Amino acid sequence: MDLKYVQTTCPYCGTGCSFNLVVKDGKVVGTQPYKRSPVNEGKVCPKGTYAHEFVNSPDRLTKPLIKKDGKFVEATWDEAYDLIVQKFKSYKPDEFAALASARVSNEENYLMMKFARGVMKSRHIDHCARLCHASTVAGLAASFGSGAMTNSIGDIAESKCVFVIGSNTFEQHPLIGRKIVQAKMNGAKVIYADPRYTATARQADLYMQFVSGTDVAILNGLMQEIIKNGWEDKEFIEKRTKDFEKLKEVVMKEDYSLENVSKISGIPVDQLKQAAEWLGTTKPGAILYSMGITQHTVGVDNVRSVANLQMLLGNLGKPGAGVNALRGQNNVQGACDMGALPVVFTGYQKVIDEAAHKKFADAWGFPDGICEPKNGYEVTVMMDVLTDNPGELKCMYIMGENPMISDPDINHVRHALESLEFLVVQDIFMTETAELADVVLPAACYAERDGTQTSTERRVQLWRKAQNPPGEAKEDWQIICELAAKMGYAAQFPYQNVEEIFNEIAKVTPSYAGMTYERLNRPEALHWPCPTTDHPGTPILHRERFAHPDGLGVFAPIEWKPPAEVPDAEYPFVLTTGRILWHWHTGSMTRRSATLDSEVPTGWIEINPEDAKALGIKDKEMVRASTRRGSIDVPAKVTKDIMKGVMFMPFHFVECAANVLTNNALDPIAKIPEFKACAVKVEKITEA
Ligand code: SF4
Repeated sequence: MDLKYVQTTCPYCGTGCSFNLVVKDGKVVGTQPYKRSPVNEGKVCPKGTYAHEFVNSPDRLTKPLIKKDGKFVEATWDEAYDLIVQKFKSYKPDEFAALASARVSNEENYLMMKFARGVMKSRHIDHCARLCHASTVAGLAASFGSGAMTNSIGDIAESKCVFVIGSNTFEQHPLIGRKIVQAKMNGAKVIYADPRYTATARQADLYMQFVSGTDVAILNGLMQEIIKNGWEDKEFIEKRTKDFEKLKEVVMKEDYSLENVSKISGIPVDQLKQAAEWLGTTKPGAILYSMGITQHTVGVDNVRSVANLQMLLGNLGKPGAGVNALRGQNNVQGACDMGALPVVFTGYQKVIDEAAHKKFADAWGFPDGICEPKNGYEVTVMMDVLTDNPGELKCMYIMGENPMISDPDINHVRHALESLEFLVVQDIFMTETAELADVVLPAACYAERDGTQTSTERRVQLWRKAQNPPGEAKEDWQIICELAAKMGYAAQFPYQNVEEIFNEIAKVTPSYAGMTYERLNRPEALHWPCPTTDHPGTPILHRERFAHPDGLGVFAPIEWKPPAEVPDAEYPFVLTTGRILWHWHTGSMTRRSATLDSEVPTGWIEINPEDAKALGIKDKEMVRASTRRGSIDVPAKVTKDIMKGVMFMPFHFVECAANVLTNNALDPIAKIPEFKACAVKVEKITEA
């Protein structure tokens, strides 16, 4: 049989596993292990195993579509471009906003950023990192001077104490979970803290179940116990950090005694004591966290508390240690690195910094300049502006994002997007967001293009094209370049291929400056920062100094604050949300995979047996879950895995979309919504 094998990088989670796509007669028909990847060593999780199944789905978008009289009709590319250009040219810079994508390549995110700031002169560009790790970017930048995972994935296996908090690693990042198992086999203690007894809890030596939204109290309590026992790393604190006394003033308060923390969090005192002892006496120790930490109105506080704990223990800048923020989507790290954020250009160079602004204006050479040197709106703020200040934002260009499922309070998002005068969506499927668009542009998927993506561990890896896009679909970078040319900026978008775009990125981005496609074309690829072409890359950050100008890490005194919405008589339970092993994000890809979708065909709400009994609800029964934002009908899953008083829903399923219920209250700094805690009521559905 005439088969071709094309090595590429997984399009799902931020782990960055590699596999081969199997190609027959020009079409992707399967995946096969690629054993030379140091990340996954030939293993993949179910999502990776079946990552070929959606590629040739019959409902891929194959032609541009223009909405006429409320219905989409097929159009030529020229007709679609002409309409878009006519509309885009009619808006003032700040009436336009763009959403880039954590799913597409670095090159395409860079071009979308350049299009928004250069062609449209708009300040408003963001993407769904706002919804997952905006608090990591802001919190770690404040503590360490750099907002990314500090260590490598392989490094986790060298840890002697792995503390996982707010991450169901074995379902959300399964091949990182494998490294936890390897650490355990090497003798490491594994501590896990989460409101649910998950697949990750089953691997832990100590599992602490807690009420969602009490992370800061728990972390402060652990730090108090560590300091009381003299387990802090005094030399590290002295030489590498500042403001320890300010931290101490807060964490040593009676409020954070283990007895009080136990009352706040629900974790028994003896478990907190055991965790503090293992953290304090077993080195090196790594912390892994994900959206259980970040998706709160106190997301930045949570991240800074994690950073505080690791600085207190001296667990930074060395193998087996670190603050390991596990990024959700395949290229969410890269989209942030590429400046698809409202406050930075590539490599986190600030838009408001005069020198950085001039550098990009000069490098890009737009004859009529670029956006003002001012911060733009975050995606969550864009939605509020659309509903609250009609007429301020009028036009959006969304590439590869589906806020109609991914964002909190979906009814609010629908109202916001329907308030737009003109919406362009570029995607591979007719998503719930695309249905609201005026023009839909068909894009290529990961298997149909070359490019780079940057995984959670800052490893920049290549995608390799295995088949042509279906019908008339095009790669995102080609669409952006063609649109830019029609807008009159062909000279600023002269690229013949993605490598030329990457070379431009390397020129303007110090942390990528030493990277070339030639250097990336090897199994280990390169971790940023990689400042020169002879630099080996940086798997571990902060070895000698932190990234602040004085080289010191900064302790932050953080007080615990409850979530924005807490249970009351009307809505008596806490609702928390998350992901599962078999599905991905808004389900647009995994629900079109026959195997994955047949494994888990719909969503559910987890209810503790005691709560279910009190409510008269049976397992698998349809119930109505309601919050102040809306109601959905969803099957009940009665399980001891969730603690009494708390309920859990996966958010992948449009027919019981958890984000109808979630709260769009925002962290004041990162503007990330509080997906992880809101007040909910659940009722039996009674026949009318
Ligand atoms: Fe893909 Fe993540 Fe699974 Fe690896 S762990 S195969 S990157 S979904």
